Amino acid sequence: MQRCIFCEIVAGRTPASRLFEDEHTLAFLDINPVSPGHALVIPKEHMETLLDVPDRLMGPLGITTRRVAAALMRATQAGGFNLQMNNYRIAGQLVPHVHFHLVPRHAGDGLRPWHGRPTPASELESMAEKVRATLT
Ligand code: 5GP
Ligand code: ZN
Repeated sequence: MQRCIFCEIVAGRTPASRLFEDEHTLAFLDINPVSPGHALVIPKEHMETLLDVPDRLMGPLGITTRRVAAALMRATQAGGFNLQMNNYRIAGQLVPHVHFHLVPRHAGDGLRPWHGRPTPASELESMAEKVRATLT
């Protein structure tokens, strides 16, 4: 495996502003924050995308993400936060070690992480049908 920057952070060989860790997970501040307090939550074990995360780590990751999100809300006095995840390069994943982004949000901050468009129910339902058919 090529050198992984997040594995280096887990191992303490690369510095990071660490926020929290437990047996399975680590949270630290993003080095290029989208807004103050922008944090990343990762499993300590190396895996690339959400699809590689074993069931036993989904709980720990969710619990750490929620815990850190609550702390960020308090620390930054944010009115909300975005939880974002990029999976695979085409979706903007630059670091191939699975991570959740937590981005504190404030009124009028101008961030637009989500651009939607109103879509007819029929279109939504036919998409839902396709997805249900592939559930495993
Ligand atoms: P991605 O595009 O893969 O979802 O996001 C990777 C994130 O990791 C980026 O927001 C980037 O700023 C952050 N990042 C990349 N290298 C480092 C690093 O060495 N330390 C920290 N703290 N964050 C990093
Ligand atoms: Zn890694």
